[in-house]
Amino acid sequence: MKSADIRQAFLSFFERNGHTRVPSSSLVPDNDPTLLFTNAGMVPFKDVFLGRDKRPYVRATSAQRCVRAGGKHNDLDNVGYTARHHTFFEMLGNFSFGDYFKRDAIDLAWRFLTEELKLPKERLWVTVHHTDDEAAAIWIDEIGVPAERLARLDEDNFWQMGDTGPCGPCSEIFYDHGPEVAGGPPGSPDEDGDRYIEIWNLVFMQFEKDAQGNLNALPNPSIDTGMGLERVSAVMQGVHSNYEIDLFQHLLAAAAELTGQCDLNQASLRVIADHIRSCAFLISDGVMPSNEGRGYVLRRIIRRAVRHGHKLGARDPFFHKLVAALDAEMGDAYPELRRARGQIEKVLLKEEEQFARTLDNGMRLLEEAIGGLEGDTLDGETVFKLYDTYGFPFDLTADIARERGLHLDEVGFQRELNAQRERARAASNFGVEYGAALELEGKTEFTGYGNLRDRGRVVALLDDQNASIELVAA
Ligand code: ATP
Ligand code: MG
Ligand code: MG
Ligand code: MG
Repeated sequence: MKSADIRQAFLSFFERNGHTRVPSSSLVPDNDPTLLFTNAGMVPFKDVFLGRDKRPYVRATSAQRCVRAGGKHNDLDNVGYTARHHTFFEMLGNFSFGDYFKRDAIDLAWRFLTEELKLPKERLWVTVHHTDDEAAAIWIDEIGVPAERLARLDEDNFWQMGDTGPCGPCSEIFYDHGPEVAGGPPGSPDEDGDRYIEIWNLVFMQFEKDAQGNLNALPNPSIDTGMGLERVSAVMQGVHSNYEIDLFQHLLAAAAELTGQCDLNQASLRVIADHIRSCAFLISDGVMPSNEGRGYVLRRIIRRAVRHGHKLGARDPFFHKLVAALDAEMGDAYPELRRARGQIEKVLLKEEEQFARTLDNGMRLLEEAIGGLEGDTLDGETVFKLYDTYGFPFDLTADIARERGLHLDEVGFQRELNAQRERARAASNFGVEYGAALELEGKTEFTGYGNLRDRGRVVALLDDQNASIELVAA
């Protein structure tokens, strides 16, 4: 089954079971200024769960595009290192707003996996929160999961929206990729391997946490679930890594061709294939590379991809050329991506060209510093110089250091950064702080590419290197 068919099978299964199909929202959450990016299927429904928004349905299903590259969920540093984490992925979800609860949520998930996808039951493992006897009983007594394939866990199995508000226990479903893959079952000491992969998380929102930390039962508990499309595609396609699924194989092949590689099985190619998805979708959702906030996360991801290309020997801009391959893979499911293609290519090319001016020299400086290194920690001055003069974000240098088994002196880097800000403040005739945002009066309507309409505040950013204007969600 191709990824596109699995997405379709999921949405129509839940439609047949009374759910309304809701299109994916933007990666820029429009209802939550505290959240960097949409990082789960429930984000667009947050106000519905909180009772602040009413919808004409009580059951919904979606395939939501997600980015986890900053904030609470940050998988950026996992990319290239695990077989299952991406910066961008699609979350398949079903939601109940005070309608069905635990028993039906478990039953629907089980039926989808074992009847629709026909996964062998003996490959499926489940976890519940250690206090959730009700869920454990449903799994064991009603569904028939053997007790030895159910684990009662703590931290990973309790979900909360924030410090207060809706929360509740979770139940995660894992797939066993077989003994040829290293790793132990959930809850065991070697669970971090890639053998037992979490594919689906069911959240039982049954409490409201108050400011004193008390858990009060919600009168109408709700359901929020999320299953990673790429992970379930790997299972369905009989491969052990997300990067071996149809979609990624095509992206990897395109990246290999553009960087002159024959071996598709290289971490740098996986990073590039991952990053083109988050970068292209972020730009299509209106994020522009900048030195602050969302735009800076985007810039950091682009520069990481470009550096990995450089490592493979690419000396000319290549990253923007991958948008064509991505469009071929995902443009049917995401017409907004297809519409924005030209714009995305332009933005990426400009970023690549800009970074290309300093990347080579920065790498030379870094290699020299590493060559003369005593011990395993790169000094803060060098890391700062790379940042300040050569445009290497801290995490980019950290990514290179990690490949060489080195660490960065983060405290020293911060000290240099603060000293520079101090100098800049003292030298400024205007009394404005570098790195600070200057808010201009009034609202604006952004009607850039596609038919994106993002209303927000215009913010002029005064930064050490660039002055730019960007839109910040209202
Ligand atoms: P993990 O423990 O593997 O990091 P998680 O518990 O953080 O996953 P959830 O927040 O429960 O993930 O998200 C629901 C589902 O989304 C997961 O079961 C998984 O299938 C998928 N998922 C989560 N993070 C990623 C990611 N970075 N890349 C791809 N799929 C992901
Ligand atoms: Mg995670
Ligand atoms: Mg987990
Ligand atoms: Mg989970």
